Amino acid sequence: MTTISLRGNLVDIPRRRIFPARISIVDGRIDDIVELKDRVDGFLLPGFVDAHIHVESSMLLPSEFARLAVTHGTVATVSDPHEIANVLGVAGVEFMIANGGQVPFKFFFGAPSCVPATVFETAGARVTADEVGALLDREDVWYLSEVMDFPGVLTGADEVMKKVAHARRLGKPIDGHAPGLRGKDAARYAAAGISTDHECFTLEEALDKLACGMHIQIREGSAAKNFEALHPLLSSHPDRVMFCTDDKHPDGLVAAHINDLCARGVALGHDVFNVLRAACTNTVAHYQLPVGQLRVGDPADFIVVDDVTRFRVKRTYINGRLVAENGESLIERVTTQRLNNFHCNTRRPPDFRTPDERARALG
Ligand SMILES: [Zn+2]
Repeated sequence: MTTISLRGNLVDIPRRRIFPARISIVDGRIDDIVELKDRVDGFLLPGFVDAHIHVESSMLLPSEFARLAVTHGTVATVSDPHEIANVLGVAGVEFMIANGGQVPFKFFFGAPSCVPATVFETAGARVTADEVGALLDREDVWYLSEVMDFPGVLTGADEVMKKVAHARRLGKPIDGHAPGLRGKDAARYAAAGISTDHECFTLEEALDKLACGMHIQIREGSAAKNFEALHPLLSSHPDRVMFCTDDKHPDGLVAAHINDLCARGVALGHDVFNVLRAACTNTVAHYQLPVGQLRVGDPADFIVVDDVTRFRVKRTYINGRLVAENGESLIERVTTQRLNNFHCNTRRPPDFRTPDERARALG
């Protein structure tokens, strides 16, 4: 039995209070929380969760992504492996789950719903409705990921509706991806059981989808940046919004992650507890993830920060284990099998010569 004891100002997000406390961790779980009278340094809060990210966009293995993310206080991600699935099919999804499982980080992978994304796309692989069903049946596949084929949902196309029905039968969440969908169409899309969207570019679109009962994932990644447009939702709909990045390139991940969105939200004058709901608790509640929320009995997934304005992360704990300290990752590198190879011969300049002058326009 290992016991750890820590002091700090505990940020109780649901009760909206901060108080000096001593927490005890026994075998990776919060065993006890005692309110203290004396002043203590630092703040203890649940770890950050990215509500929607394609880990592949970081160009890192999940294990390497985790090593970086924990330095910014991220303890979990809801991750759609559809980029690797587009290349390698189900074997790619299985690889992501297996590699992510080798490190002390909480990856929650979904079953990619649209590989290829549309019937017009030539992908390296297909994931059929039966294969999606088999993935969804697995305990370590948590949801049906972004249903990009919204025209298919609106017309009731067999293939996509089969996948949606399977997820609904299992009671697993279904993520949306419907840029620009509004009004009655948005309502029909939501009525199919699709409960989130991370594609809103305007507040009006987000309010439309919220009115349909959807949850909005405020996306601020390396590609699309919607925080400026959507941050008012932190105050107007604090129970229905989550932070996500969707795509996060490696240089961006070195700099910051969800911690940065917390600092920006608070700097804009949003209530700190509302900001932290989007960063920590709403995602865990929506997907019913086994990620600790600093309550007695929870897995000890939490972070220590200097203050609740800049959110500079001093330490990150996952299942009671210290995984990052002062910007240094304490997660060890893992070895992994190589799954995909490119086969080609060396090319020389003459190989690129073309008799057709028009091709030069590309150069
Ligand atoms: Zn996405």
